[in-house]
Amino acid sequence: MELEPVIGFEVHSELKTKSKVFCGCKNAFGDPPNSNVCPVCLGMPGVLPVLNRRAFELALRTAIALHCEISERTTFDRKNYYYPDLPKNYQISQQYAVLGRRGYLEIEVNGQTRRIGINNVHLEEDAGKNIHPETAGAKYSLVDLNRAGVPLLEIVSEPDIRSRDEAEAYMHSLRSLLQYCDASDCKMQEGSLRYELNISMRRPGDPLPDYRVEVKNLASMKSVLRALDYEIRRQTRLLEDGRKPARETALWDDAAGETRTMRSKEGAQDYRYFPEPDLVEVYIDPAWMERARAELPELQHERCKRFVEQLGLPEYDARILTQSRPLADYFEAAVRLHNNPKAISNWIMTELLRVLGEEVEPDDLNVRPPHLARLVEMIDRGAISGKIAKQVFPEMLETGRMPDEIVREKGLVQITDTSALEAVVAEVIAENPDVAVDYRAGKDKALGRLVGQAMKKTRGQANPQLLNELLRKTLRGQ
Ligand SMILES: [Zn+2]
Repeated sequence: MELEPVIGFEVHSELKTKSKVFCGCKNAFGDPPNSNVCPVCLGMPGVLPVLNRRAFELALRTAIALHCEISERTTFDRKNYYYPDLPKNYQISQQYAVLGRRGYLEIEVNGQTRRIGINNVHLEEDAGKNIHPETAGAKYSLVDLNRAGVPLLEIVSEPDIRSRDEAEAYMHSLRSLLQYCDASDCKMQEGSLRYELNISMRRPGDPLPDYRVEVKNLASMKSVLRALDYEIRRQTRLLEDGRKPARETALWDDAAGETRTMRSKEGAQDYRYFPEPDLVEVYIDPAWMERARAELPELQHERCKRFVEQLGLPEYDARILTQSRPLADYFEAAVRLHNNPKAISNWIMTELLRVLGEEVEPDDLNVRPPHLARLVEMIDRGAISGKIAKQVFPEMLETGRMPDEIVREKGLVQITDTSALEAVVAEVIAENPDVAVDYRAGKDKALGRLVGQAMKKTRGQANPQLLNELLRKTLRGQ
């Protein structure tokens, strides 16, 4: 039986605001527990929430970038549930008149563009965090409410994703879009971007299955993909045995590499949503809407196009460099300092992408745009060869020192002195008489071997153009 997965995502993204969504407390990660709290976010009786305009504007901007239909009038609702990190016993969210509906996100897989439907985009508040001490025998848990009330954007996709590759592309595209909108810093390791998966299996062409498994507790994109693989295998086995997987919510156990049932799935009615009486409705009039559209930052495809048209980058480079906004910013900052886009792109695509990943952002690197710009500038003016640059680069990465400093200290300056190189040239020709004969017999390629030998002797410091020239001249002269 050939089955295909039916996958959707619920994504929570903490918005990049200075303060929380309904009070003036600081929105910051990593502060001492319970230091950014007040009666409003602690859920004391009698307090009144006030909507953070910036949070609303970032949510609106993201909804527009996701091509959503924007509700002219949006309202907030209480989603009722009890949890130790939710002191009010309800979460302020949007249920009846959400900010955006019926949008889409474009993803690209194997050169094909697909649109994944966005069911809705809405604004809500984050809950606090329960901390379970890992000390053996600890019989208590702690609650940190710094996160309670941090603005949270929930983006709910349609179950339009049909493969693991598409799921991966969706996660990357959405993250990139949130970064381009400057809506979130998207640091998964700090919880500011959280993916939840829902998945079921069906025969291609069949209607949507009447069950689905939601998977929570996915701390990285890698975990999401592992959980996906696991569920595809598990559900396929059940269906092949003639059994139907249960509709449930499961937790991903990364260490064990499996999902565990958390609860059978509740519906919206279980949360007893009702309108939040303490917040006013928000009307987005046409002038506001127009302003929001005009202020939409340059998005990935626009930037990609600009890199090709204005900076003359190949399409392939432009696509990779614009996949994440921090990387595109990094690249542009370096190009502003030294105008050789293609060379800078080459360095980023080879040396930098090797160290960058889900955990390491361009901003975390010791090599800043001025470092890279200087390195490329030194190669361009012939101060060092590309080979030497490759030797210098790891040290820059390690120490954050400027390349000229390292070159000077290690005496790696390029040899451009003709007389010094002439001796080396004579030496390699004498040591490789057969190669010299080949070259004179018209085998141009033989020259490359001699260049290699000479480079070795000079520890890569010979100026390659000069070396080539001298070799040719000497060989022809003999
Ligand atoms: Zn507060």
